Amino acid sequence: MTKKFYINTNIERIFSFAISLLIILVLNIILANTLLKKIQENVRATIIDNCDDQIEDYALAVNSKLKQLESRLDIFYAKIAYRDYSTNEIRKFLQNERDKINPPFDNIAYADKNGNSWNVFDEEYDVSDRKYYQKIISGETKFYVSNILESRSNGKSCTIFARSVYNNKTEIVGVLFATCPLNELSSYFDEIKRSESTRFIIRDENKRIISHYNKKWIGWVYSPYKYSDTVLRTSNGEFHVKDSITTDGEPAYIFYKEIDSAPWTIGYTVPKTEFTNVIKRQKAYHNFIIEIIVVTLSLILMLEIWIHRILERHQIISTHIDAITHLWVRSYFEKEANKLLKRYSNAKFLLIESDIRGFKFINQNYGENQANKMLLQFSKLLYENTNHYDGILCRGYADHFFILIKITSVHKAMHYFKKDLKIITEKSKQASIPFIPKFGLSFYLPNIKDEIQGIQLLITRASFAKSTIKENALQQFAIYDDRLLQKSKNENFIETHMEAALANNEFFVMYQPKVDLQSEKVVGAEALVRWQSPVLGYMPPNSFVPLFERNNFIVKLDFYVYEQVFKFIRKCMDNKEPTVPISVNVSRNHDKPDKFVHSFIALLKKYDISPTLIEVELLERATLDKNLLRDITIMLQKEGLRVAMDDFGSGESSLNMLSTIPVNILKFDRSFLFANDSENGRLDATSESFIETLVGLGKNLKKETIFEGVETEEQRDFLKKIKCDQVQGYFYSKPLREDDFMEFLKKHR
Ligand code: C2E
Ligand code: MG
Ligand code: MG
Repeated sequence: MTKKFYINTNIERIFSFAISLLIILVLNIILANTLLKKIQENVRATIIDNCDDQIEDYALAVNSKLKQLESRLDIFYAKIAYRDYSTNEIRKFLQNERDKINPPFDNIAYADKNGNSWNVFDEEYDVSDRKYYQKIISGETKFYVSNILESRSNGKSCTIFARSVYNNKTEIVGVLFATCPLNELSSYFDEIKRSESTRFIIRDENKRIISHYNKKWIGWVYSPYKYSDTVLRTSNGEFHVKDSITTDGEPAYIFYKEIDSAPWTIGYTVPKTEFTNVIKRQKAYHNFIIEIIVVTLSLILMLEIWIHRILERHQIISTHIDAITHLWVRSYFEKEANKLLKRYSNAKFLLIESDIRGFKFINQNYGENQANKMLLQFSKLLYENTNHYDGILCRGYADHFFILIKITSVHKAMHYFKKDLKIITEKSKQASIPFIPKFGLSFYLPNIKDEIQGIQLLITRASFAKSTIKENALQQFAIYDDRLLQKSKNENFIETHMEAALANNEFFVMYQPKVDLQSEKVVGAEALVRWQSPVLGYMPPNSFVPLFERNNFIVKLDFYVYEQVFKFIRKCMDNKEPTVPISVNVSRNHDKPDKFVHSFIALLKKYDISPTLIEVELLERATLDKNLLRDITIMLQKEGLRVAMDDFGSGESSLNMLSTIPVNILKFDRSFLFANDSENGRLDATSESFIETLVGLGKNLKKETIFEGVETEEQRDFLKKIKCDQVQGYFYSKPLREDDFMEFLKKHR
């Protein structure tokens, strides 16, 4: 028997999982991107903030530097202020001061009210056209720093630091001013400490560069073409970053700020590459995060597939493998069996269905645990004794097992089957709770034109064959053939017509007399049912009772028979006819002693029949329902009825039962009489001694003994000799219809 385990990767589930993973991945990337944008904005904001701080600091420093220069001018001024010096006196003073001038100043001059000026070199120029002169002399401002100018003294580019000069009436009488050459001034601003990478510029109102991190641009007009006039600090203090270019033409962002002490502007350029570098770093970081997400998700996917496989294997164990026996379950067996039948369509197969006799009772009486143990034992037996075949085995349901075997010939298959059967039977008897299995066989033979399409029909046939085995017979297996099929067709008909037949009174009772061997008188009779069907004709019970036992209709039919019997006795009594105890058969399907006895007694009372006029024949059954039989027996006896063990000796453990089930009568099975010598109608010696022992045993146990199936005088004589109490058989009479029985009784009572 090959045990195959089949792992079915549920591709669909993995596929849907992969799709959801993909969606998660895409969502993650979108999320990461928005995050990146946010980060970039933050970076820009941080850079801008940083630039803002830097430019503020620088502006402060430039302002303070300018203030220092203002104070230096003030030192000169202090010497002439409020003194009402004449122009000549001032000219002299200036000449004296010539040596005291320090860079970045290179000259100091004084302009009078008319715009005439004299410097430390006593050079005279008219400055009335200069803006700084006009601003101061008009009183508009006290101190002024000019844009870049060309010095009238030496022609160099310079800026002018100018302030008003007052007389002792605090009237503006002139302008004191110092010239500051551009190169000196730019060096002076270079003293402001700043990191090398900073790129500050100072421009005057005319966009000429006063200070630059690259000296070569000093004095040049720098006006980034696009945004030449943009002041990027708005009135509410916000910065606007604008695309622009550095003096070198490099794309850049430029931050501007006007300073307080001069009409100048401070610029701070940040090449765009600086932004992009940071952003690039951010992007790399972002990509790294995405990579991590992808790797993690892939790992999760792999983990999921792995777990899925494990779960699936587990699932297979629970869906394809039976938990109790560890064999395949039916659905999986059928799938595999159909594959085999398809693959080897020209091969022969044997399908065996097997179950345990009376398993229902085992379950009820021993409990589920014991029953499960038995199932396991049985499955092991089946497995061990069939595993050398090429085939498969499963537990179909309950105690039903299916085996499909590929065979070479029916003959060989039966030979081996019988051998295995022997072993299985032996071993099942030795089990802790002995059990008896039975088997149904069906063959798949491709050379015979068969309508078998798949395993299902083979199972149905084997199952049907098995169901034809009569419970109390020693038959252990049945093989499906067409006769059985015909029978099954009949059975189908019977099943569909049985209810109507009962209602139409198609069933009737015959009575077979029982004769007392000593007095040769009729002392009783057995009620036996018959069916006169308008379609199927006259039928003995063997052709329908086994079926009714399977479909449980026998329970109804039994009570129908009882009622007929009770009616008959009632009629006899009412007509003052003679009566004898009549025995009735009780099917093994009555599995609730209380219910059965209650209904039985109620019916008895309905017809007001004395219990002494009725005997009950119980069938000896498999080991399993001992308790049930005992209960029925005792309960019936309490009600005053006598109980017979029918077909005694045909079952497996009759003798064991004698001690536990206190029946009144032993009714020996007629199979004991089969071994008769046909020549003289006598039994052979061994049978005789065996029967004598059995009857003797019954006598010892104080049981009444009756033999059924007595057909010859010799048999009757022998039984009389060994003191068997009664006989029932064709020798005296076949079962008779009511009227005939009445006549027979009257004759022989
Ligand atoms: P059983 O209860 O053992 O009945 C005895 C059977 O042996 C009867 O067969 C009877 O006709 C037959 N018989 C009696 N003497 C001879 C003889 O000398 N030679 C031969 N060859 N046969 C003899 P029957 O009536 O066909 O009944 C067969 C079985 O059907 C019965 O066996 C009983 O188990 C069952 N049966 C019959 N009627 C009923 C019924 O009303 N209810 C139930 N549950 N089962 C019934
Ligand atoms: Mg009987
Ligand atoms: Mg019998």
